[in-house]
Amino acid sequence: MQLDPRTILLLMAFTAVPTALVLLAVARFYSAQVRGVKHWTGANIALACGLVLLGLSQTANDLPARVVGNTLLVLTAALYYLAIMRLLNEKPRARLAWATVIISGVAFALLWATHGPYRLAVVTLSAALILLTGLSAARLLLPVSGERRVSHRFTGLLFLLGCILMAMRLVYILFSAHPPGNLFASDFWHGMILGGAHITVMLMSLGFALMIVDQLASELNRLATLDALTGIGNRRVFYARAEVELARCKRKNTPLSLLMIDLDRFKAINDALGHAAGDETLRRFAALVGPHLREYDFFARLGGEEFAVLLPDATEEFALAIAERLRELTVAEHLPAPAFPVPTTASIGAAQLRPDETAIDALLQRADQALYAAKNGGRNRVVAASWLGDTAPMPTIAAKPDADAVSPGLTLQRHAK
Ligand code: GH3
Ligand code: MG
Ligand code: MG
Repeated sequence: MQLDPRTILLLMAFTAVPTALVLLAVARFYSAQVRGVKHWTGANIALACGLVLLGLSQTANDLPARVVGNTLLVLTAALYYLAIMRLLNEKPRARLAWATVIISGVAFALLWATHGPYRLAVVTLSAALILLTGLSAARLLLPVSGERRVSHRFTGLLFLLGCILMAMRLVYILFSAHPPGNLFASDFWHGMILGGAHITVMLMSLGFALMIVDQLASELNRLATLDALTGIGNRRVFYARAEVELARCKRKNTPLSLLMIDLDRFKAINDALGHAAGDETLRRFAALVGPHLREYDFFARLGGEEFAVLLPDATEEFALAIAERLRELTVAEHLPAPAFPVPTTASIGAAQLRPDETAIDALLQRADQALYAAKNGGRNRVVAASWLGDTAPMPTIAAKPDADAVSPGLTLQRHAK
């Protein structure tokens, strides 16, 4: 079986065009969420033009078609790399990519003008393509911040395969006893390598499409699980996570605790400074708490100015210590602004799962009751569920003067002036 190189190159060009058009349609539908598609489309168009130009040229030293054609192939690899980096929202080595395109283009022009040897042109083209394709392969195959996606690995392996095929072609042309004299020489191994390259390039676009699907799926997942205002977990994901943690703690016989947090007199912020200031306060509170939790704690906004923290492997005593730290942090932050006369504080209810409780609702209810007691006790305080009951007195951890002492109406008027 002999694969004709010219047929393969033209086939590659003709399949690149519809692929480019399909991706362009995707880009139009999802342009807001997906970046890099236009670069990938541009790459496929450059590939098609480059291959048609090379396919139409006749001999090794033929016409500027060879210079432009080869430069377009290098441009294709550069645009693939830029498209991948844009899709991943990362800064590309753009200067290196463009410098490679320009330098190889100039080198091809010099080789053409001086009727340079075919092998030197192959070395120049291979070096440029291997460098740029290698950059894409490295980014997709070497894990960045623990992220390992199948679509990335699939596409990365294709880019690696592309590098290997180009290196094989280079070695074959440099070292074979009877190397093909030009791109279109009928030669079994040369044809096989180009055929492999054709399949690889087609699959690369499939890989990029899979990466787009992955990106859209993770964006949907992010929107479904995160609270849009604060960026922490939302109510839905909190309940799901709580069920999972409950089952895990029951299985492993480890403690599980919960904090219910409600910001005090939050309405006063909205009334005095407007809803946007209230939103900003919620964002700042969420950002304040996050860094003080352990990696496996789960922090969520249940709604309004109500938050919850799930504390796996934590006793009530430990939960109380964390709650008190969060309460103090909130006081120190003086939300919403240093000059605001009645800063918001946090009332917190803490509860630990009891051995007889088999549903998360029971734990939530007791933490809620403790929060209610904290509010009734004067706000800006932490109350444990175990303190509530007929016999147990209700100690208060926080003994700060209650902001009730100040008339909200008066303070707001003062602030408004
Ligand atoms: P308490 O100390 O008893 O908790 O008083 P409070 O004012 O914090 O509680 P209340 O339930 O009276 O008011 C909560 C306010 O939170 C009312 C509502 O307008 C406001 N709120 C709820 N969700 C949001 C939001 O997403 N953004 C803003 N800015 N305000 C919100
Ligand atoms: Mg409140
Ligand atoms: Mg509330």
